[in-house]
This record gives sequence, structure tokens and C-alpha cells, in this order.
Amino acid sequence: MIYLDHNATTRPLPEVIATMGACQANAWANPSSRHALGQSVRAWMVAARADVAALVGAQPVEVVFTSGATEANHHALHGALHRSGAPRRVLLSAVEHAGYLASALRLREEGVEVSLLPVDACGRVSPRVLQEALRDKAALVSVMAANNETGVLQPVADLAVIARAHGVPFHVDATQCAGKLPVDFAALGADLLSLSAHKLHGPKGSGALVIRKGLSWPSLIAGRQERARRGGTENVAGIVGFGVAAQHARTALSERAARLGGLRDQLEAGLATCFGDRLLVHGHAAARLPNTSCISLAGLSAEKVLRHLERRGIFASSGAACSSGGTEPSHVLIAMGVPASVAHGAVRLSLGSETSEEEIAETLGAFASLAAEPAAVAPPPPQTNTQPTSGALA
Ligand code: PMP
Repeated sequence: MIYLDHNATTRPLPEVIATMGACQANAWANPSSRHALGQSVRAWMVAARADVAALVGAQPVEVVFTSGATEANHHALHGALHRSGAPRRVLLSAVEHAGYLASALRLREEGVEVSLLPVDACGRVSPRVLQEALRDKAALVSVMAANNETGVLQPVADLAVIARAHGVPFHVDATQCAGKLPVDFAALGADLLSLSAHKLHGPKGSGALVIRKGLSWPSLIAGRQERARRGGTENVAGIVGFGVAAQHARTALSERAARLGGLRDQLEAGLATCFGDRLLVHGHAAARLPNTSCISLAGLSAEKVLRHLERRGIFASSGAACSSGGTEPSHVLIAMGVPASVAHGAVRLSLGSETSEEEIAETLGAFASLAAEPAAVAPPPPQTNTQPTSGALA
């Protein structure tokens, strides 16, 4: 098996599984219990909180454990609207995670103005666009650090400066970036940051919202846990597994990123050799995550490519795993101005720490046999993603 779907999820590390097992077996008391048994469980969580905070340059007290990044994003969004005197308007980039965007857009039914910040041809929000959008008051600005489909990095530090100058809380979904590239919450100037354990070899159902110290943020679920910021008995094993994964992700981060970037470049160079100008790498002109390559191959549908790869034991996704299987083309690529016919053919190859040079060579071999087959559908129009999208705020 060659697994090239690391942006969908990652294999939990053996240390994560072992520690979670030990935690379930031994640290099963309630961490809110005052007795020694409860307090010993709390100690496991204290260590995990420090490890998660260290991964993203935050203080332990800023970390609120959640059921994952979906909940963290919701906490940021709904929390913003529940702050006293908050305007009923939020700004999200048009390329946020599909689930997050969908739930934000549902708020329109409740009279909230949800403005989508348009992106350029690489999928980035320009500071100028944010500056313009903030002429009217807003309760929150949300822009992800790195896109899950294309890997394109947003200029979040520049955007944070603008949001701060307008006094609007700035939220960054760093789910895909954390563990792949250094993230420094303090230096970033963000107020809120979402994380998910299963994207960095931790367990599913475990994540965090990092809330800047001193910023009071309404909770979604009332209760005393997590300093009254997230009620409910904690998923202790999930939190502990997240801590182990975060600690592991932090070690050798830059070497791993350099190695993955090299493999990804090798993959794209090999694809260019096979397919020539039939290859389109989405967002290639921008800084991207080192592990992600989102491609369209003229004349080949995503289904055909993925079936061909899977027959050879290679697993990848069309666009985002969460929306693959749907018939709609990726909202990310559409926002970038990619024609729907090309967006329909997009395949995401996402590498991980286990990906080897041999696997990339084998994957290229599979693509070479595909390139030799006659094209089934008309090639898409020539590459268009050098022009910025005009897109008004919507
Ligand atoms: N945001 C981004 C950018 C993601 O890639 C994902 C996972 N696909 C999520 C949020 C949701 O994370 P979780 O699975 O932890 O809810």
C-alpha cells in the first residue's frame, strides 16, 4: 500500500496508541475529581497541554481541548457572535474547510451577514481585500493557515495585523499546517487557532482551540472543564494521544518538511515529464505545504486517475476527502477561478512522514502507464490560474 492521503488523516503513531492504551487502562478516573486518583489523571492532561502548546508556540493556559478542528472552528465562529455587542457579521476566506464554510453559511438563515473573502488565482486572500472588507464592522475574521486541498499558505501574519488594527478577532485554522511547518501562535498575532490531532499522527476526535491569553471567549458548551471554556468530562485518552503526537511532530519538524518538499518536487517533476502541458498543479506559484500536490491532468477525470492508482495499491483523494464522492467541483478551486471542468479532474496527493523515495518512484510509474493511455475526454482550456479572480465579497 502506498498512502498518499495524509491531508485526510494520518496513521496514529505506535507511541500514541500505546500511551492511549495505558491511559485508558490506568488513568480512568475523572480528572475533575479532587482525590488523588483524579489528580493523577489531571497530571497526564497537564503534560499533554504543554506538548500541544509547545507545538504551536502558545502557552498551556491558552489551549482548550475540543473534539477536533471542526468543533474548534465552531467555537471560534459562534463564540465571536455571542460576545456582547458583537456585530452580526463574520468574514471567512472563500477557501475555508468545506464543513466550516457550510456551517457558517447556515448562519445566514439567522440573519448573520457571512462575507466570503475572495482569493487570488493561487487561493490567497490579499491584505488589500481584507482591508476593504473591514470597512464595515465584523465579529470575526477567519483565514486558514494552509489549505487542505492545495496546500497553499495564506499570508496570515499580514492579515492578522489588519484585523488587529480594526479591533476584530482573527481566527486561523491551522489544522493542516501544524506538524508540517512551524506555527508560532504568539508571533502570528492571531487571537484563535484551530488544531486537530489526527492530521499529525494522533487520534481522531481530539483537537484544540487556542485562545489568546486575556481574551474572554464565550463557551459553546457550559461546564467547569477547560477553565469553563468547554464543558464535559474530557476525552483524556484522546488528549494524551494528541500530546504525544504533538511532541513527536515538533521534533525534527524542519528536516521532515525539507525531505517531504524534496519528494513532492520529485513527484511533480516526474508528472511534468509524463504529462507535459497536460499537467496543471493548482497553486504551484504560491508557497505551499511541503507535502501537498493538487493536480489536474487534461483529458483524465479524477475518478479514472484514482481508480488507476488504487488498482496499483496507491491511495489518494479527489479534492478534499470530506467532499469527495460528491458531484460538486471543489469550492476551493472554483474560488481560485479554475474552470469547473478542470476542477472536476483534481486529484490531491498528500505525502507524509512515512512516504519514501521508492513510493514516489512507484507512483510515478503508475502515472506513466496512465499517460500512455489515450485521453478519454476533451482537454480543458489552457491554464487559467495566473489571473486573479475578481470575485466581489459574497
Ligand atoms: N480544517 C481543516 C483545514 C481540515 O483539513 C480539517 C480536516 N479535514 C478540519 C478542519 C476538520 O478537522 P476534524 O476532522 O478534526 O474535525
